[in-house]
Amino acid sequence: MTKPTAGSTDPLSPWLPPYPESASDKPIIVQKYGGSSVADPERLKQVAQRVSDTVKQGHRVVVVVSAMGKTTDQLIALAKSVTQTPPRRELDMLISSGERISMALLAMALSELQHDAISFTGSQSGILTNDRHSGARIIEIRPVRIQDELARDRVVIVAGFQGMSYKREVTTLGRGGSDTTAVALAAALQASHCEIYSDVDGVYSADPRVVPEAKHLAEVSYREMQELADHGAKVLNAQAVEWAQRAGIVIQARKTHGSTRQTLVQADGPPERERGRATAVAAAAQVVDVATRRGPEVLRVLGEAGVQLRHLGLHDQQLAATLTLDDLPDFARTQAALRAVDPALELRDDQGMVTAVGPGLGSDPQLLARLLHELAQAGLHPGRVTTSPLRISIWLPTTEVQPATRLVHGLLC
Ligand code: ASP
Ligand code: MG
Repeated sequence: MTKPTAGSTDPLSPWLPPYPESASDKPIIVQKYGGSSVADPERLKQVAQRVSDTVKQGHRVVVVVSAMGKTTDQLIALAKSVTQTPPRRELDMLISSGERISMALLAMALSELQHDAISFTGSQSGILTNDRHSGARIIEIRPVRIQDELARDRVVIVAGFQGMSYKREVTTLGRGGSDTTAVALAAALQASHCEIYSDVDGVYSADPRVVPEAKHLAEVSYREMQELADHGAKVLNAQAVEWAQRAGIVIQARKTHGSTRQTLVQADGPPERERGRATAVAAAAQVVDVATRRGPEVLRVLGEAGVQLRHLGLHDQQLAATLTLDDLPDFARTQAALRAVDPALELRDDQGMVTAVGPGLGSDPQLLARLLHELAQAGLHPGRVTTSPLRISIWLPTTEVQPATRLVHGLLC
């Protein structure tokens, strides 16, 4: 990709002023602001002020924004009041509008502060995805328009959570997908790092709303963060962590207002960590377990519906699979397709999953035995268990997920 040189004019738009001398050698920073940080005009103006400060410190800034407050939830509820199984393409058309509102308002707030700012949708930003609606994956980014505007010394605001498929359709990247937009853009623009702002000052050893004594983590490795995000931790999006790892982008997770602490998500976590201790505990309140004797056929249906599996066991034709309902707004339709393939298919959705993540955790039988004993002593009902060297996941009734999270955290963190 060719970058415009300072002092030159744009060959396609020669009537525009030459690129300023100053722009091209300033470092690029990508900042992402979550929904709570832009929930109302007042907070949006505070974000604009913060962006303005970053520009004045001598950076070129790309800002990725989420939809204001609970807008995405409200838009999904609106769709569901029309139909229980909204076609995913149309749902993407609807919910991608949330980020479009915040991007335009933030650009206006910045111009009010005398900054030259321009907003772009995902497709204008060159974010190309596959064609899975409601949970698309970014395939490639061609940020030519962004680079062009940065070279003109403008602040670029990008609508998070969305892209365009190779069929030129608007897609969304799954809940929490603005994180992915930010990290993938940071990679494509060779930014020095990616700052992710929200209402918490980083990653904790558990969700502090569920476990009040959860500890703030100064550093987490990509691998551990990925496991946590894949198993229900909402603090960072899993696809975002994947991009960060692939491109070596350090994520700085920070709070928008009132705290200077942060968590660095990077290649290595802290050096000295005791074996048998967990870095953090993640929880998913509801998972769906599917059991069938027609494994290969059921897998095909799940694949066609774009379902992402969390766990899978296949013995001969017998399949036991676990998935989450995240990014499956039309699951009722998938369920009907599954039953058409196997009328005897078993499906339960009354369980959740608690996952402890830490080096060597899942390789220690004694530790697992102790954990199961303590859970039973506390009157809880652990069901299935799966492990990998970095993780232990325990299924429990949904109503027991929170007390189990507190107990596992107390024992291991
Ligand atoms: N607005 C989208 C959501 O609520 C994306 C995001 O916030 O990252 O999931
Ligand atoms: Mg988020």
